[in-house]
Amino acid sequence: MKAQFEDLKGKKVLVTGATRGIGRAIAKSLAEQGAHVVFNYREGKEGVANEMVEHLKGLGATNATPVMFDVTNTAQMKDSLDAFAKEHGVIEGLVNNAGISRDQLVLRMKEEDVAATIDTNLKGAIMVSQVLSRGFLRAENASVVNISSIVGLMGNAGQIAYAASKAGMVGLTKSLAKELGAKNVRCNAICPGFIDTDMTDALKEETKESYLSGIPMKRFGSTQEVANLVNFLLSNASSYITGETIKIDGGLYI
Ligand code: NDP
Repeated sequence: MKAQFEDLKGKKVLVTGATRGIGRAIAKSLAEQGAHVVFNYREGKEGVANEMVEHLKGLGATNATPVMFDVTNTAQMKDSLDAFAKEHGVIEGLVNNAGISRDQLVLRMKEEDVAATIDTNLKGAIMVSQVLSRGFLRAENASVVNISSIVGLMGNAGQIAYAASKAGMVGLTKSLAKELGAKNVRCNAICPGFIDTDMTDALKEETKESYLSGIPMKRFGSTQEVANLVNFLLSNASSYITGETIKIDGGLYI
């Protein structure tokens, strides 16, 4: 099921990590809402970016603009986003979705994996928010949605750095909401549980069964269900919700 939010039409929204998985579904869903979808891609992936532009326009996007940056490269990010603002005006919505996981038990954890996880998932989200914050102050109804994870709330053996980065996003969310609330800039986090993506497809049948047994709804979520929640939070339909952390996990956390 898909809800339509009229005010997303023409809204300039940046989705990070939209080339695959959940981010791609969010970008597609925003295109169906008629938004101006902005998405980043990494150097060398111009082919994927061009294919996405055509796809998003075909779905109904007012416009679709790729911006080249890695979320761990702040200078590149700033250059690309400043160039976008010069040509198209301020970005009014942000979905901090780009993320990685390099899972390892604490005894085997490598420092470079910890650094890469925190740099991408947490520092990346903080820096994109920082670079866009001046524009948010000039936008009428800016909204930021951070894609955290249920693991950031529950913890998980073998995911120390990932869980810490996702818990950090909850702190980022609450702080940005407090700092910019008076300027009508909202910021919320969502915590997906297991979502059907390439990652869950690759799980062995018995591992899937064991995960499913812990989910009251006995199924994984769909990327469309995540996109529906993101659209709601980006839209003015959620105009008095800020600093909130919403779980979307079929009851896993209960
Ligand atoms: P994928 O691995 O399918 O996609 C990750 C995306 O992030 C890709 O587009 C990738 O780009 C991009 N990305 C990764 N690192 C960087 C970087 N340094 N700079 C720019 N872009 C980058 O992930 P999912 O769709 O599974 O997950 C999306 C988000 O949702 C993540 O933050 C994840 O932690 C979170 N999440 C996922 C859950 C799930 O069940 N899948 C559950 C809970 C949370 P590229 O194509 O260039 O690699």
